[in-house]
Amino acid sequence: MAIAVYPGSFDPVTLGHQDIIERSSKIMDKVIVGVLKNNSKSPLFSVEERVNMLKSVAGHLPNVEIQAFDGLLVDFVHKCRGDVIVRGLRAITDFEYELQMSQTNRVIAPGVDTIFLTTNLKYSYLSSSIVKEIAMYHGDISAFVHPVIADKITEKMSP
Ligand code: ADP
Repeated sequence: MAIAVYPGSFDPVTLGHQDIIERSSKIMDKVIVGVLKNNSKSPLFSVEERVNMLKSVAGHLPNVEIQAFDGLLVDFVHKCRGDVIVRGLRAITDFEYELQMSQTNRVIAPGVDTIFLTTNLKYSYLSSSIVKEIAMYHGDISAFVHPVIADKITEKMSP
């Protein structure tokens, strides 16, 4: 059975993330979405909130699990008995960082490979940071996130 781990901050989950989860769940037997707890980026949503938001948009997929983790990604992958890490690639700007991470992970855990899914063109510009920035100025985020997530963001940002 091929198990993939899809790690990220998901602060908050966007339609771009959802697309990667759905596509990888069709390729792999099981996908574990790993929500990073110790985030130096000081996230808008707590890890529990991020896990719950992911469950509300991807919980219906029978072979997808959502889990929080901290520490080294490769340790989490081993704990999950994962075979591969899945990451999404949007543009050349993602490539350099992703290449460095995947090479590093392979040195510290030689059995763990990374596979990349290229972004769906319609989400190629989309990031959690952009969504937060638009929401901060009360812009319309309905094209970027699931309606349930849009409500959570609005709630979080209202004084
Ligand atoms: P991280 O802080 O680890 O980069 P993110 O939540 O920003 O976490 O992203 C998690 C993964 O999802 C990364 O591999 C990122 O490249 C990918 N990703 C983010 N947004 C998109 C998108 N719009 N299309 C495809 N992949 C995406």
